[in-house]
Amino acid sequence: MTRPVRARVDVDALRSNLQLARRTAPHSRILAVVKANAYGHGLVPVARALEAADAFGVAGVEEALLLRQAGIQKPIVLLEGFFHAAELDEVIRHGLNLVVHATHQVEALATAALAGPVRVWIKLDTGMHRLGFAPAELAAVQARLQSITGVELAGLMTHFACADDRTDPATQRQLDAFAALGPGAVGEHSLANSAALLGWPEAHADWVRPGLMLYGISPFVDSLAADHGLTPAMTLETELIAIRDCAAGDAVGYGGVWVCPESMPIGVAAIGYGDGYPRHAPAGTPVLVDGRPAQLIGRVSMDMLILDLRGLPEARVGSRVTLWGEGLPVERIARQAGTIPYELVCAVTARVPLLYESRG
Ligand SMILES: *Cc1c(COP(=O)(O)O)cnc(C)c1O
Repeated sequence: MTRPVRARVDVDALRSNLQLARRTAPHSRILAVVKANAYGHGLVPVARALEAADAFGVAGVEEALLLRQAGIQKPIVLLEGFFHAAELDEVIRHGLNLVVHATHQVEALATAALAGPVRVWIKLDTGMHRLGFAPAELAAVQARLQSITGVELAGLMTHFACADDRTDPATQRQLDAFAALGPGAVGEHSLANSAALLGWPEAHADWVRPGLMLYGISPFVDSLAADHGLTPAMTLETELIAIRDCAAGDAVGYGGVWVCPESMPIGVAAIGYGDGYPRHAPAGTPVLVDGRPAQLIGRVSMDMLILDLRGLPEARVGSRVTLWGEGLPVERIARQAGTIPYELVCAVTARVPLLYESRG
């Protein structure tokens, strides 16, 4: 390792967040969502840490095959199903479960001459209007799927649009739309993402589908992980590689957009948007230097960013700089940068080594 930037991943935190999901939804099975390289935390090591989950959810066959190649035997659900009929051979060979959300997928299954059985979830659109069949289409879709040799119906899935805001009435409307399916609602049911798992017990049903909370991040717009007993898994950190004394009036960094109001020490940390730190994080965004609060100044560069070291006389070249994680919730950084924590952790780039830590 040359550059000091790294993302430490606390394996015990992943496990304890999964246990919290279990305690919160004790009558549901858990489909742990590990798409997007486990939200940037590393697909295979995270799936191993979460081996107590009942199934894994991914966004595509490539991710599913990485899990199978790593020896993971649990059911794997392709959350958007297949994109092209050519994927169906791999789907069947590796026993992957499909979500089917549109007629073209149903018809592709019907014409594919399936080489074996495949379990299929029907995705219903209860109000998000992204993917899924309208409730009124359910009976026809179900009948068509049941007529296809090899297709085994797993059940029904739907997804919430606004569960991250506990005051938004849209979630109750979606719950009501699902409940209105009545006896037509075949098989097992799965509704809840992290926010619904934590905020809407009536959404738990047979399978919950937590993603973000497993990584120790609050799925709500107005709370932090600790408010829910979650433990952040990822700590993104680097080191100070320079400390400089600047004079009043010195403009700092690209564009010279930040000007020193007085003579002051500044620090340069070896991390930038090339590592996934958000370029739009404004001056004032918090960081920790050896655990003490400091602030970003100037524009974030590709490989570096600049810190205001006033009030931190003990800072040294080599001091540890924490961008988020232990002691600094990623939720706070996301709010500062005008984004959501999902985007920040997913955006950590491949040049940042992921280091897995466990107390044993
Ligand atoms: C990503 C995803 C989830 C997980 O959502 P979180 O908000 O991260 O808990 C659940 N279900 C589906 C269909 C998803 O695509």
